[in-house]
Amino acid sequence: MVIQSTGTSRRIAPFKESVWLGVDAMFDRHPDMIFFGNGAPANDLMPLDRLKWASAQAWEDGLNQLSYGETEGYAPLRELIVRQMAAIGAPATADEIVVVNGSQEGMDIVGRTLLHEGDIVLVEGPTFPDAIRLYQSHDAEVVGMEMDKDGIVVERLAALLDRLPRTPKFIYTIPTFQNPSGTTLPLDRRHALVNLARERGILLVEDDPYSAFRYEGEPLPPLRALEPNSVYLGTFSKTLAPGLRVGWISAPSPLFGHFFAVKEVMSISNSRLTTRVAYHAAAGGFLEEHVAEAREAYRIRRDTLLAAMEEYLPPQATWVRPEGGFFVWVDLPEEIDTDVLLTKAAANGVIFLPSSWFFPDRSKRNSFRLSFSAIPVEQMAEGIRRIGEVLT
Ligand code: PMP
Repeated sequence: MVIQSTGTSRRIAPFKESVWLGVDAMFDRHPDMIFFGNGAPANDLMPLDRLKWASAQAWEDGLNQLSYGETEGYAPLRELIVRQMAAIGAPATADEIVVVNGSQEGMDIVGRTLLHEGDIVLVEGPTFPDAIRLYQSHDAEVVGMEMDKDGIVVERLAALLDRLPRTPKFIYTIPTFQNPSGTTLPLDRRHALVNLARERGILLVEDDPYSAFRYEGEPLPPLRALEPNSVYLGTFSKTLAPGLRVGWISAPSPLFGHFFAVKEVMSISNSRLTTRVAYHAAAGGFLEEHVAEAREAYRIRRDTLLAAMEEYLPPQATWVRPEGGFFVWVDLPEEIDTDVLLTKAAANGVIFLPSSWFFPDRSKRNSFRLSFSAIPVEQMAEGIRRIGEVLT
């Protein structure tokens, strides 16, 4: 039989933009490559022994963990998530929580549920690249909002909204220790954003993977605390381990019902096994203890990185000191194209992620992202020295 219909759907066209393959190929260019691209927890900061113990606890549930079901998530885990959200000031009830296979699936469910062809989604410019491609795959037009060192410039947002041909379907934002810019939206801007969104009738979708990792300054309320009618995406990927693929969406009804239905069709149910592992690992105060320990280790990594940047990067490179999270964003003079610079950097033994990846139209080319979470402290200075070398 000749298979005639091998044409792929237009929905996957944005997936072809993946830049990771190009980066993978760069690893061969130097015998000891230093990779500032990994936004995951460090291997030594994932609680392996506790996860092994939690797996054994999960198996105690016997056959009960081997069936379908629990589409909305393992009940004790949902209760734990409610307590965790309460601790950061974001009120939610267990019947508003849908557990998902990582917040990436949460974003997919939100997109699938809400987006029609041609809908506009506003994102920070720069933002998390897989959010851009995901919303594009749901036929949305993804538009970047202007940012400065304090995140979205909310006072410019009203003018952008006036210019757009349609009211955006939602605003997707990472207000705390943003990926990739490291910025945090201050309280006055949080209020202003919530007020503007309310005035214009736009849903806020808040993605919050990093807020547990604050190294200095006072915690800020999540948008969800200021606007109960918003969607909140959470994850255990950074606080426990990304390989568990356990995250959640918190949404008021009627959105909860839609998200639940979409989740059911997309994946039938959550993994009963890994959601139990996440629950047992996190429960009994372990998560808080573990995060406190990891936070200190990440703070040392951030400080080591910032000190190396002061020492080895030329004066034309500028950056904002992140109060938490995993990332530092570096701006260079306009004439430097960091896609080109990356090729030289890789030959010199270091990889960063160029700014073009993080903008819907790929237009900004003179910045790059450094992720410090997974780099051993001993390699930090050498990595930055190598970047400094190709910049001078
Ligand atoms: N959102 C943001 C902002 C992220 O940085 C990441 C992971 N890098 C994700 C979502 C995906 O997280 P998860 O592993 O929970 O799917």
